[in-house]
Amino acid sequence: MAESLKEYTSLHLGGPAKRFIHAKSEGELIAAVKEADSAGEPLLIMGGGSNVLIGDEGFAGTVVRVETKGNSFSVDACSGGIITVAAGENWDEFVKWSIDNGFVGMESLSGIPGTIGASPIQNIGAYGHEVAEFIARVRTFDRKSGEQKTFSNTECGFEYRSSLFKREKDRYVILDVTFQLEKGEMSLPIKYEELARALKVNLGDRVLIGDARSAVLSLRALKGMLLDENDRDTWSAGSFFVNPIVTSEVAAKLPADAPRWPQSDGRVKTSAAWLMERAGVKKGDCHEGAGVSTKHVLALVNNGNAKASDIIELARSSRSAVKEKFGIVLEPEVQFVGITL
Ligand SMILES: Cc1cc2nc3c(=O)[nH]c(=O)nc-3n(C[C@H](O)[C@H](O)[C@H](O)COP(=O)(O)OP(=O)(O)OC[C@H]3O[C@@H](n4cnc5c(N)ncnc54)[C@H](O)[C@@H]3O)c2cc1C
Repeated sequence: MAESLKEYTSLHLGGPAKRFIHAKSEGELIAAVKEADSAGEPLLIMGGGSNVLIGDEGFAGTVVRVETKGNSFSVDACSGGIITVAAGENWDEFVKWSIDNGFVGMESLSGIPGTIGASPIQNIGAYGHEVAEFIARVRTFDRKSGEQKTFSNTECGFEYRSSLFKREKDRYVILDVTFQLEKGEMSLPIKYEELARALKVNLGDRVLIGDARSAVLSLRALKGMLLDENDRDTWSAGSFFVNPIVTSEVAAKLPADAPRWPQSDGRVKTSAAWLMERAGVKKGDCHEGAGVSTKHVLALVNNGNAKASDIIELARSSRSAVKEKFGIVLEPEVQFVGITL
């Protein structure tokens, strides 16, 4: 019987796959990709399914779920820890492992769902840090050349919620990621006001890495940003839209209390959640089975009986409201499969 993709996505949405492969080793992963490509069969690589919205018709091709496991590491006094982790490993289990083993850096990125292999794709980030700061290299299988290719950090072309792997969609299968982390007990300086408040410290202070992780996990739980089967507010794909980066002229026209984070290229990042709320989108708003999370306006959720098209309708109306009020077009963070916004 065809596998239903809804079993494999955090939105609990997605119709059947024509063929579904659980790739448990790197050999199986590369063989499955090569086979689909040489047969001209549509191919979808999946990790934890926490950043995808898959249509109710499903996927008329091969879905390969990356379930490769394993890590290796070395530590020395100069370079700290060099840790290589297989693409199919769970992101947060790795974060916890790194903290338990006295590596510094990952604490702000605690609790993000998904796999190691997906982490460089949209350069995951939270609480003032992004994974690009800690990646030494990414090893891939290049579907175009049929060869393996390793990218140094600079070659990955990391940007805010983007990378070369996202821009050249469907070309590179990520096999493993190598991180470089310092050893220590204290966190990186706290860069995010809400986290500093929760920890009762000032911006720039350091705390024990375990304390930083606990505070991040608590904040995420309050926003429905920690996966929990029993909490429908977490049946989402995380933030549906990225925070828009606009020109300084556009930023100057926003109301005085709009969040503004200046970027190194002179542009200004503002908050998608703030724009949505000011445009009238409210937590708990519903369209058929889809809803705006009751905890976080940026997360669109499946209230239990949503269709993928319900989520799309809600996303469209939120996007139109922001465009009408501020003239800014929100761009999705979520990857769409078999459905468009
Ligand atoms: C509750 C919740 C909270 C979240 N919070 C955050 C957050 O704070 N910060 C943040 O940045 N993101 C967040 N996200 C989004 C998501 O967790 C990340 O984008 C995560 O990296 C996705 O990992 P995944 O394994 O689930 O990827 P999937 O959803 O399975 O795939 C995402 C994309 O990557 C591709 N892909 C996956 N694995 C590979 C691979 N090995 N090789 C090539 N392509 C691959 C897929 O084809 C797809 O296009 C959140 C999501 C949820 C549900």
